[in-house]
Amino acid sequence: MKVKNKLYTKYLDLLNIVDDYYRWGYKMEHKNSSVINIKKSGNSYNDSSLKINDIDNEIRNCKKCGLHIERKTAVPGEGVTNPLVLIIGEGPGVEEDKTGRPFVGNAGKYLEKWLSAVNFNADENLGRNTNVYIANIIKCRPPGNRDPKPDEIKKCRPYLERQIEILKPCVILTISRFAAQVLLNTELGITKLRGKVYKYKNIPLVPTYHPSAVLRNPELRSPVWDDLKLLKTEIKKNL
Ligand code: URA
Repeated sequence: MKVKNKLYTKYLDLLNIVDDYYRWGYKMEHKNSSVINIKKSGNSYNDSSLKINDIDNEIRNCKKCGLHIERKTAVPGEGVTNPLVLIIGEGPGVEEDKTGRPFVGNAGKYLEKWLSAVNFNADENLGRNTNVYIANIIKCRPPGNRDPKPDEIKKCRPYLERQIEILKPCVILTISRFAAQVLLNTELGITKLRGKVYKYKNIPLVPTYHPSAVLRNPELRSPVWDDLKLLKTEIKKNL
């Protein structure tokens, strides 16, 4: 029975891939997106990307909370405006603090695998100029990778709210307990929250686990896969 169910799920996955190809060709891409924060020749800039660049500069110079004291560099986010998916993590780690770029460490490499599994390429070097924008709740690394404090979240939150307003993502994917809790204004844990679609200011929001949590616990891979399929369905509905 289990084998039959697995085969059936694989069959449905395959149908989904064929459906994507039929509707969007090789790549789903939002017509109005413009690359920001990626060093690549030939980028075109629009009004929204200029506004995002202004917010990035504010974030890089921000001293609203104590995190600026130990940070090497703030990490505003990167990707395209009007992304199919805005991915929101928790906060920068060591590698991100060094480079100023989100999700470039082990968790980031794993996140890229998730995204290419659902055909959104978001490779650190190549793919962040299509389909996605990647940001965090907290823009500076909490020392020793400790959890962000409520006061730090409160002071940083307006940056994310402004980013979302300008980026106008088709769907939001939160990949941390904090991100889901902050945006949905809830204290429920991620295991209770995931598996459903919510709304953040009328934008569909799909919560799932943090890639680091899945690296530590492979049993979370199957629920993440379900969440990624949910994400894809939401994008198709809202594109
Ligand atoms: N983990 C996060 O939540 N964000 C990053 O940018 C990197 C790791």
